[in-house]
Parts: sequence; C-alpha cells; structure tokens
Amino acid sequence: LFFENTYSPLSSNEIITKEKNNMDQSRFNHCVRVSETARKLAKLNHYDENKAALTGFIHDYAKQVPADEFRKVIKEQKMDHDLLNWGPAIWHGMVGAYFVQRDLKIIDTEILNAIKRHTTADVEMTLLDKIVFMADYIEPGRTFAGVEEAQEVTCNNLDSGVAYQLAHTLEFLIKKRDKIYPRTLDAYNVWSTK
Ligand code: GDP
Ligand code: FE
Ligand code: FE
Ligand code: FE
Repeated sequence: LFFENTYSPLSSNEIITKEKNNMDQSRFNHCVRVSETARKLAKLNHYDENKAALTGFIHDYAKQVPADEFRKVIKEQKMDHDLLNWGPAIWHGMVGAYFVQRDLKIIDTEILNAIKRHTTADVEMTLLDKIVFMADYIEPGRTFAGVEEAQEVTCNNLDSGVAYQLAHTLEFLIKKRDKIYPRTLDAYNVWSTK
C-alpha cells in the first residue's frame, strides 16, 4: 500500500482499484512512481507525506478519459467554455479534478486544486501544488533530455524546479508549434525569476 486514505469514504484499496480500472498499466505505473516521488519531495519540504503520496497517485486519474466525455462534463457542469478550445492535455487536470471528486469521492480542495494545476501550474501555488507538479516531471520513469538536471534542481529547491519545468515545457511546446495555455504562460512569468 502506498498511502493511507483519510480524505474519502472509500478505502485505499477501493481507490487503487478504481484508478487501475480507469487507465492502462503503464499509466498506472507512472502514477505509482509520482506517488513515491511526491512522498520524497514532501519529506524534503516538510509537508504531509501521506497527503502528497495520495495526491500524486491520483493526479492522472482522468488521463485516459475519452475527449467526448470531457466535453460533456465541461458543458453539463457549466465550466468555463474556453476549455472547449483545448484538448485532453489540458482537460485531464483542469476537468480531471471533477472525475476525482465524482468517482473517488475526494472533496479536499487542496488535493483537487493540486490535480487541477498539475499540468499548467499557476501564478499562485501551494506547497502541495508544487510537490505534485514537480513529482510528475521528475519521477524516475522520465527519460527526456535534462531530466537529471531537473531532478537535481528540484531536490535542492522546489521553487527553482517549478521555474525549470515551466521554462523547459514552454520551449518544448514552442518547438512543436503547439498552443500555450494562457495560465501556463502566466505561471512562467511569475516563476521564471524564482
Ligand atoms: P502527464 O499527464 O504525466 O503526461 O504530464 P502533464 O500532465 O504534466 O502534461 C501533459 C501534457 O500537457 C504534456 O505533453 C505537456 O507538454 C502538455 N502541456 C503542458 N502545458 C501545456 C500548454 O500550455 N499547452 C499545451 N498545448 N500543452 C501543454
Ligand atoms: Fe498529467
Ligand atoms: Fe506535469
Ligand atoms: Fe502525470
């Protein structure tokens, strides 16, 4: 068992089963590694290790939800319609938190916000937001060029890790001529100097 669940009426095993049934094995393994990395970053930064491990484990709960299901929820839940201009890369966090609340019965706003922000970051981030954002980026299964530097920077200073990830993600998206979600850009402008 990776965490003790005190945030939902479901048992830890029920959460693990629901998570497993909502994604393929390799995504599940990523979530386990993010959970372990989040626990480590929590310890380094004096945050509740159990809460970090749980949030890391469920951060990508909605990663493989079909696009049509996201669109339906955005409309039915009357979320910002601008979301419809984006895709699953943005939705699985911003809208994914809704699925976590609905299916995993988690109502803790700190956990739900960390899931909402885990892809785009934000201008203001709690310690849990930063831990999950960085654990996702540096978990030991990541293989991108520069990952070792990212791990080192993040373990030395969590805020510098956030700045590092935002700068490198923007470079990566621009090289692909991908659209930048405005919140990602706003976050970069705030965090780039930290
Ligand atoms: P994962 O879910 O574990 O694969 O990781 P993330 O949730 O951090 O990222 C999902 C994808 O979203 C990655 O490919 C990022 O490069 C991409 N992404 C992050 N920010 C933005 C953005 O502003 N715009 C777009 N289009 N994609 C982004
Ligand atoms: Fe994700
Ligand atoms: Fe991320
Ligand atoms: Fe992830």
